[in-house]
Amino acid sequence: MELIASPSKTKEILNKYPFVFRKKYGQNFLIDSHVLNKIIKGAQITEEDCVLEIGPGIGSLTQVLSQHAKKVIAVEIDDQLIPILKDTLGEYSNIKLIHGDILKIDLKKLIEEENDNKPIKVVANLPYYITTPIIMELLENKLPVSSITIMVQKEVAQRLAASPGSKDYGAISVAVQYYSKPCLIANVPHNCFIPRPNVDSAVIHLEVLNEPTVSVKDEELFFKIIKAAFSQRRKTLINCLFNQNTVSISKEEMAVLLKEIGLEENIRGEMLSIYDFAKLTDALIESNK
Ligand code: SAM
Repeated sequence: MELIASPSKTKEILNKYPFVFRKKYGQNFLIDSHVLNKIIKGAQITEEDCVLEIGPGIGSLTQVLSQHAKKVIAVEIDDQLIPILKDTLGEYSNIKLIHGDILKIDLKKLIEEENDNKPIKVVANLPYYITTPIIMELLENKLPVSSITIMVQKEVAQRLAASPGSKDYGAISVAVQYYSKPCLIANVPHNCFIPRPNVDSAVIHLEVLNEPTVSVKDEELFFKIIKAAFSQRRKTLINCLFNQNTVSISKEEMAVLLKEIGLEENIRGEMLSIYDFAKLTDALIESNK
């Protein structure tokens, strides 16, 4: 069947229906087949895979996923798109279309029902407003997900993959890199979509790890430290931790503790690697014993 992801086919489909773009749902439809190929390759989709697609739109990515995977579960929130998808994807028998909000669906139950609880791959051209909540839900809840390959705003992709010391490095970089190994797949200019978004996008692949990158004695404290460390970028780590009431030892004791784990007392949070954050968490736990 003719590809949906071309400017002419997309316009033809949109003209056939009384569809109005809903800005609140971040609707920018892909019209470039080269980008689709990069997503499929980056996500390493095979005939064995069950894929969860978030927000199929008019089905551009869904169609190609269906041609490469065993099964595709596509969850779309916009009721206007349901009849369109039934039309554009009608001939593909391995697609299960669900009308719903991905943030409200019980994903654990969905994976149990649709893939016998075996790991699925998540692939999506994500609307901006759900990027962080959905990534964190998939990772934190330790759902059976083997990888997440998503198109997001370029700046967001850079933040997810950022290294210590770079301007993009933040709490979200450390959190995502705790659960997964990020890899940038492609930059995607705004003219690959209808309508064109104001910003460029990028595809990022997160390979979900079986075990977190570092093991820590107290996960809650680890994330509390990370959040506090990035709360005021121009302040030292010690000041951030004290301003956020994260630690119960004195500044002097904290300086000694930092020295013991090989860090300068005036270091800033954005210079710490995930390994440093883990060492700091465990050292604080030990110091409280
Ligand atoms: N996958 C299509 C493509 O690449 O052309 C559409 C991508 S568009 C950027 C995002 C899609 O996600 C839209 O179809 C939008 O209606 C849908 N969407 C937005 N919020 C959603 C939510 N909470 N749950 C499910 N789908 C959602």
